[in-house]
Amino acid sequence: MTIYNFSAGPAVLPKPVLEKAQSEFLDYQGSGMSVMELSHRSSLFEAIIQDAERLLRELMQIPDNYKVLFLQGGASLQFSMVPLNLAQGKKALYVNTGMWSKKAIAAAKALDNVEVEVIASSAEDNFTYIPEITEAMIDQDAAYLHITTNNTIMGTTFAAIPKAGKVPIVADMSSNILANDYHVADFGIIYAGAQKNIGPAGLTVVIIREDLLGLCPVAEPMLDYQLQADNNSLYNTPPTFAIYMAKLVFEWLQDQGGVPGILKADREKAGLLYAAIEKSALFSSPVAIDSRSITNIPFITGSPELDKKFNTEALAAGFQNLKGHRSVGGMRASLYNAFPKQGVLDLIAFMEAFEKENGG
Ligand code: PLP
Repeated sequence: MTIYNFSAGPAVLPKPVLEKAQSEFLDYQGSGMSVMELSHRSSLFEAIIQDAERLLRELMQIPDNYKVLFLQGGASLQFSMVPLNLAQGKKALYVNTGMWSKKAIAAAKALDNVEVEVIASSAEDNFTYIPEITEAMIDQDAAYLHITTNNTIMGTTFAAIPKAGKVPIVADMSSNILANDYHVADFGIIYAGAQKNIGPAGLTVVIIREDLLGLCPVAEPMLDYQLQADNNSLYNTPPTFAIYMAKLVFEWLQDQGGVPGILKADREKAGLLYAAIEKSALFSSPVAIDSRSITNIPFITGSPELDKKFNTEALAAGFQNLKGHRSVGGMRASLYNAFPKQGVLDLIAFMEAFEKENGG
């Protein structure tokens, strides 16, 4: 039976990447050591981290005045690092588009000397759309405006990045980094946990404009962007194996035609599934059309019993991790960059058969 992994994260990785890692697992480039065993100060590892950064810069066309940091602590630690480094004694603006935004807001509120203002929210409609943000809503004295570009749980995406005047936009891009056509220059900071489109969990990528470094005194060394940047992400032992895997994923992405190439494939996969949902009399999308994510696609039957039946039968047929997030219910197909088109076609065929059998 073919297994398709629809997990929202950690997520499917490209097969050729896993095979490459396997082929050099025990003996990396004739060193007689696994990548996991290399010193992070060795020339072999230095080449890996430098290649990873160079490839990411190429893929995302990151301007020279941005630093790329390879950190730990997940996107969740960025919820705290961002306000600590940028907003002490100042106001920070947030858009509340779901559970991850709420966690980012809560982390900023936990700091005594940061004033948090939520300028827009779609909470009243169960986060099924992205609220409109205009420049007039943005206090130009604020330290930053925080958005979650893709809401992994609700399946919504910012189709366009808001205009914020001189206020830097800070983006949690965990679930659509390298799967969008945003411009890095439109952001002050981009951060993402690696475990969806980049590589294994344990690595967090932060892309930060240089003028945002060193703005606030940060007493905790590990949480200080300036110190991490000054040490080229090697202040302490970085997640070496995860960085190596990210490098392999970046190489694979280049082989796919870079971001434009993978985005075309992602849009095609999502288009197929949305068309099947639209055509169906049984399945529907809970998300407003102009806010729909191409990465995380929730769908429901409208009956919790039928959803449960579908999930049980889908699991038995090899469709892993399709069950919707516990806060939403229903189903959710996460179609990250490495997810194969064939998996979408097979899922659609399975949905059609289910609909026939269950009187849709
Ligand atoms: N932000 C978004 C949009 C996410 O999807 C996730 C995890 O799924 C997180 C933040 C939390 O990331 P981490 O587990 O790396 O802290």
